[in-house]
Amino acid sequence: MARRKKIYEGKAKTLYEGPEPGTIVQYFKDDATAFNAEKHDVIEGKGVLNNILSEFFMLGLGQIGVPTHFLKRLNMREQLVRSCEIIPLEVIVRNYAAGSISKRLGIDEGTQLPRPIVEYCYKDDALGDPLVTEEHIAAFGWASQQDMDDILSLALRVNDFLSGVFLAVGIRLVDFKIEIGRVYEGDFQRLVIADEISPDSCRLWDVKTGQKLDKDVFRRDLGSLTDAYSEVARRLGVMPNNPPAPGKPTLVN
Ligand code: UDP
Repeated sequence: MARRKKIYEGKAKTLYEGPEPGTIVQYFKDDATAFNAEKHDVIEGKGVLNNILSEFFMLGLGQIGVPTHFLKRLNMREQLVRSCEIIPLEVIVRNYAAGSISKRLGIDEGTQLPRPIVEYCYKDDALGDPLVTEEHIAAFGWASQQDMDDILSLALRVNDFLSGVFLAVGIRLVDFKIEIGRVYEGDFQRLVIADEISPDSCRLWDVKTGQKLDKDVFRRDLGSLTDAYSEVARRLGVMPNNPPAPGKPTLVN
């Protein structure tokens, strides 16, 4: 079999050319990195869990009419996605203070925010993904005003959807990061949710105990990352030996 062409290798995923033009295969690796890759480890099974969890969220978003790049899962570690031009922004939505906003503004972690706050960071590892404003985004042409209106509305829809799905299984969605891609259809362009949605890119706390079920377990050495991500998958009813059934989360009391 001919070897596939590698398009890009990131910290947690590798992208290969897909079987049809305009498609890409996303391979989920077991690598975990934090603090701009200063901390690195290989965590067996993480890629499998993130592949399946991301499929679950992307399918669910599709079902409520939020466009995503997801086409189908191919196997335990790979999914087929539409190729798109990634807007160079990390779009962060916060419901509770944690991480960088707590440090920056001196707000205790866990404080509920008066309303969801959307922030933008410029995607550049060498610069440490700095926080930017809409002024920077417009001035440097990273996205148009129309794009920014669409991005804000997509981010808030994703937040409402994810918050509800997690709350139904006893998990608080503290914050998350998404990436947005442009897809061209003839003369038109459309924005879609791209990259992945997984515990690597969310903060997830158990509603009752506050236990962390996300990448902070790795960042802050709080125990087994696989156990935390497996717990999220188990509650959502999508453990790898149990194919995803969007819309059928398991209620916890
Ligand atoms: N996040 C991410 N990738 C990044 C930066 C942040 O997925 O490169 C996620 C992170 O997991 C958290 C949210 O975005 O769920 C907000 O992160 P924050 O700005 O607090 O940064 P951190 O404290 O993780 O450095």
